[in-house]
Amino acid sequence: MHRSLWLLEVPLVPDVQPALEGEARADIAIAGGGYVGLWTALLLKEHDPACEVAIVEQDFCGSGASGRNGGFALSWWAKLKTLTRLCGQEDGVRLAKASEDALSEIDSFCRSHGIDAHFTRGGWLWTATTASQMGSWEACVALAERQGVGPWQRLDPDEVAARAGSRAHLGGVLDTSAMRPLATGVLGAGETADLGRGLTVSFPDLRQYTVLTVGRDRGLLIVLAAAILILLGLLPALYTSRRKLWVTAEADGAGTLLKVGGFALQRRSQFEEEFSRLVRELERVPEGRVRS
Ligand SMILES: Cc1cc2nc3c(=O)[nH]c(=O)nc-3n(C[C@H](O)[C@H](O)[C@H](O)COP(=O)(O)OP(=O)(O)OC[C@H]3O[C@@H](n4cnc5c(N)ncnc54)[C@H](O)[C@@H]3O)c2cc1C
Repeated sequence: MHRSLWLLEVPLVPDVQPALEGEARADIAIAGGGYVGLWTALLLKEHDPACEVAIVEQDFCGSGASGRNGGFALSWWAKLKTLTRLCGQEDGVRLAKASEDALSEIDSFCRSHGIDAHFTRGGWLWTATTASQMGSWEACVALAERQGVGPWQRLDPDEVAARAGSRAHLGGVLDTSAMRPLATGVLGAGETADLGRGLTVSFPDLRQYTVLTVGRDRGLLIVLAAAILILLGLLPALYTSRRKLWVTAEADGAGTLLKVGGFALQRRSQFEEEFSRLVRELERVPEGRVRS
């Protein structure tokens, strides 16, 4: 049986167990002790501790791909296009979300059982190191964005280089589902969060400050003066009353006939009095005759 280098170097690789002979009874039998078989067995026992689960493994648990892989715990968001093609839009998204949930489950499983599996959630960068690779993520990221799902964060080239630690990475996107969210969600002032593996992040204090903008606009005084002048110009209009007075003089036989008319927009009663006074004055003209 071919063994991977890693398996060959692990000191505790178990001997292959003797083959199962005769009859064995269990509520549920699982064929294969890889990640899938073992995780299924764990979930079954968690769901129903009384359930008898048997794993039938031809070699030893972890002898297959589960004991030979690169150890990258990633979501399937980068495979959304393929998942959608194979399973349809709804199931494609469901599977990608489930793969994201699986990362959190592995994380909390390791923590709650004190398993030091070197499990780190540092995010996953999908980058380009040549111009022709630029945007290779676009179709996948755009598909997720159109459906309002996905963990993608678009980064500018400087951010990519900083995160990747090399300018060889020209551009890219970040899969944040492979990152561990803080348990508290938001870190408040004076709080510290434990990121595991001896790493903590602290928010020691919050200094409150106010932002004041001091500026000088030379045009302001001119605008102020103009506004005051406009207001002053309006004042007379408030206190004056607009009136019209017509007087016509026509030859009337031996004398002159005066016709007087008037019109006022405001203070009409006052105008009527003044108008009457004017007419009376005209009537006092010797031999005067006024029709109004
Ligand atoms: C080189 C390599 C690198 C990889 N890198 C990554 C990575 O970085 N990140 C990632 O997420 N995935 C990676 N993968 C994929 C990942 O390892 C597999 O998807 C995962 O291990 C599959 O788990 P499994 O339980 O389905 O299969 P397996 O781990 O293959 O388990 C199947 C088990 O069933 C047993 N078996 C088979 N037939 C029988 C039978 N008839 N009776 C009894 N037992 C049987 C086998 O012996 C085996 O132990 C990698 C895979 C490989 C090969």
